[in-house]
Amino acid sequence: MDVIDVVLIAGDGIGPEVTAATCEVIKAAGAPIHWLPMPAGVAAIESHGDVLPAVTLDALRQVKVGLKGPVGTPIGGGFRSVNVTFRKALDLYAAVRPVRNLPGVKTRYEHVDLVIFRENTEGLYTGIENEVAPGVVTSMKVATEKACTRIAEAAFEYCVRRGRAKVSVFHKANIMKLTDGLFLRCARAVREARYPQIAYEEVIIDNACMQLVKDPTRFDVLLMENLYGDLVSDLCAGLVGGLGVVPGANIGRDCAVFEAVHGSAPDIAGNGLANPLACLMSGVMLLNYLAEARQNPACKQAADRIKAAYDKVLSDGKIRTRDLGGTAGTKEFTAGLIAAL
Ligand code: ATP
Repeated sequence: MDVIDVVLIAGDGIGPEVTAATCEVIKAAGAPIHWLPMPAGVAAIESHGDVLPAVTLDALRQVKVGLKGPVGTPIGGGFRSVNVTFRKALDLYAAVRPVRNLPGVKTRYEHVDLVIFRENTEGLYTGIENEVAPGVVTSMKVATEKACTRIAEAAFEYCVRRGRAKVSVFHKANIMKLTDGLFLRCARAVREARYPQIAYEEVIIDNACMQLVKDPTRFDVLLMENLYGDLVSDLCAGLVGGLGVVPGANIGRDCAVFEAVHGSAPDIAGNGLANPLACLMSGVMLLNYLAEARQNPACKQAADRIKAAYDKVLSDGKIRTRDLGGTAGTKEFTAGLIAAL
């Protein structure tokens, strides 16, 4: 059986807890993965003098696939976001975040089945900010035809491969006429040239947020620039049970790194309370990706087993983490998943 090397970044806060749980379940499911632990985040400052050591980026460039825990980012100062630097350094241009109702997790909504495509490399996340005069600061939003086009291609191509029917682009081109205007023009051009069969709409972001909370089932694939994608991802997580249940992938041309939508959750870190499911679901996305990209059927089998196990544990409802209204800690929930495999 081919064993596949995968970089593992435990990260900060709840990262070590949720990634350890994920590796345990993936191992128990029989996936042929060899983890290569690599440093990043606040912990890496102590060990390597850098939040994003070169050794980690080099390992990812070499093995081309990784699982990443959340990494903390200081607010209003301090070092530049590791997540942003990391996505940019590896050109992981598409954040793909499926948001679905889970069996047994009751929320205000049913039949939610969305996939967010967030542009991951530009917009306001270039971090180009200036103090132009005392008391006056600016932040530069960047959009390029190349990046807007390739994220649109990723979203439409996903529709074709997964049998999805509609792309909704969220924007604010009425105000940001050049940047969001370019985003829209690129999306339209991609659709007209290659995907005319996919339904398409453009929704102004404020209206889109209102529509999402009124009836999320009217949407299918959502396409948007970086900042809107960040905000809408958390909003959508709230539709299906919160940040503990939404996985994600950062996909580039030659490299893919899988990570949950949630952050390092410092408020619960180290207490054994985190829900590892979002990280585990990202692990399932990773296994499915490897099954396709490396033609490895053992990865597909393991992914299917894990999905069936968490569907069962959630449907039974006996072992549930606190964010989903239960009392189980990370370890108990993980043991329940392994028993259900
Ligand atoms: P970032 O700014 O790094 O993206 P965030 O705004 O997404 O972070 P989080 O750190 O994810 O914020 O935490 C938001 C809230 O959700 C916190 O109260 C946290 O405890 C909770 N939370 C996040 N992830 C989980 C999880 N896996 N299990 C349980 N609770 C979680």
